[in-house]
Amino acid sequence: MYFPLLQINSSELNVILMAIIILLFFFIVIFLYNNSLADFVRSLRYPKLDYEEDLFWNSIIRWKWVKVNGQYELDETRIEKICPRCQHNLITQQQGDIHFLFCESCRFISTEYYEGPLKEPTADQQFRAVLKEEVSAELRKSGIYD
Ligand SMILES: [Zn+2]
Repeated sequence: MYFPLLQINSSELNVILMAIIILLFFFIVIFLYNNSLADFVRSLRYPKLDYEEDLFWNSIIRWKWVKVNGQYELDETRIEKICPRCQHNLITQQQGDIHFLFCESCRFISTEYYEGPLKEPTADQQFRAVLKEEVSAELRKSGIYD
């Protein structure tokens, strides 16, 4: 085929069509990712940000990351300790030097998250310190560093 008005032959047209198809493909990809593009790029740069939940001490623990001085750190104000049986929030409890999580709803008791005299001022602060160490250890196991 020859298109006299456009002054192009069919192989040139094929190249142009291919270029248009490739451009459309990229526009569609960008469109689909548009809302989550920032999140997508962020998680490529900081893969640990996708890690926000794990099973520790038989309990479901969820947390969020917060940017502090350009670094993402575990946000101590946004930690959830969830009962694996009834989904209620767990509280920190201690018996002597044994520290564990407890469900006031179904009486679930976790395995101990800490044993010994507190290094932090309170049991809750001790829990957060231990959790940070556990999360860091899991990230290192997965080859993810800050
Ligand atoms: Zn429970």
